[in-house]
Parts: sequence; C-alpha cells; structure tokens
Amino acid sequence: MKDSLRRKLIEKRKHYKNWIEDSKKIEDKFFLLDKVNKSSVFLLYYPHKNEVNTLNIINRLLSEGKTVLLPKVEGKHLLPIKITDINSVSTGYAGIKEPEGEVYQGDIDVIVVPAVAFDEKGYRLGYGKGFYDRFLNKQKALKIGLAYDFQVLNDIPKELHDVPVDIIITPTKIIKTKEEQR
Ligand code: ADP
Ligand code: MG
Repeated sequence: MKDSLRRKLIEKRKHYKNWIEDSKKIEDKFFLLDKVNKSSVFLLYYPHKNEVNTLNIINRLLSEGKTVLLPKVEGKHLLPIKITDINSVSTGYAGIKEPEGEVYQGDIDVIVVPAVAFDEKGYRLGYGKGFYDRFLNKQKALKIGLAYDFQVLNDIPKELHDVPVDIIITPTKIIKTKEEQR
C-alpha cells in the first residue's frame, strides 16, 4: 500500500515542471515563520531527484550566519554534519549529496524534512527506509516538511514508528498540523 503510493508519487514528481517557481514560493513562506527567524541551528536536506529545492534556503541561512547541518547516512542512521559552504558536499548514500566532517553534538532548533508525500496531520511517506523516523524520534526540534501541493494527501498509511512533522509548507499554504493544541 505504502509502496504503490510511493512509486506513483515519485513518478509524478519526476515529471513535475513547476518546481523552480514552487520552491521559490516555499522559500518565501519558510522565512515568514517566526520560529525560523528566531532559530539558529537548522538541519536541512540536499535536494535529490526533483524534491522541493532547498538550496536557496540553505544559502540564505548561511548568509545570515546561522548554523546549517546536512544529514550523512551511516549504517541505518542519519548523522547531522555542519556545513559552511553548500558546494562542499559529495555523492553519498543512494546518490544523495552529503557533507564530510564531525557530527554536530548540540541541539537542533529546526529540522526540514524531505518526503514523497505528507498527509494533513503531518504524517510522512518517505523512501521506505525509515531513516527520518529513526532520527526524528530523538529530536525536540520543530519539524517542517516541504511539499508541492500534489504531495499533500488527505490520508496516508501510517505505522506506530512514523514521526509526523509540525508544519507543512507548500507553494500555496502553511499547514500547522497540530493547530488545535497550540
Ligand atoms: P519511510 O518513513 O521512509 O517511508 P517506513 O515508515 O515504512 O519508511 O519505515 C521503514 C522501516 O524502517 C520500517 O519497516 C521500520 O522497521 C523501520 N523503522 C522506522 N522507524 C524505526 C524506529 N524508530 N526504530 C526502528 N526501526 C524503525
Ligand atoms: Mg515512516
């Protein structure tokens, strides 16, 4: 069930033409968030295969002097590594660009999570390996998902280990997934 949905959406994203414009709109919305402007340590992802493009966000955070981390895969785990230059990455696990360096040991304020899809409660369909579920369940950071509008579904199959995000940003809206509790 998760698998066929995953394949369908990855295929759709592969042919999606509006990603540059959409990524720009998402970037603008990201910097409207109070929590983003007040935070200093961010873990983002390096965009892979037509995911929402985070490179402008990363560069903007770096130019503001914020601490920017990117994940590096080690075994079954994601390790947060600090970067100072977006070009100092090389191809790693599954062809995804990753940094070299020491594991960041401090607290992370904001984690920007990639996905194949989200549902409106913030539950996430990833690539099927559970890397982010394992990483996020130990993190207190605000979790933000970035998605094109077609990647937000009413409902996706979920399991106990799945960790939802707090906010989803699309080109057209900011969805606070736990609104009723704030
Ligand atoms: P994804 O989130 O990447 O779409 P799944 O949620 O289907 O993928 O998770 C893939 C696998 O990762 C699961 O079958 C599960 O065994 C494993 N997994 C996920 N989270 C954890 C966790 N916290 N501890 C151990 N294994 C986990
Ligand atoms: Mg999962």
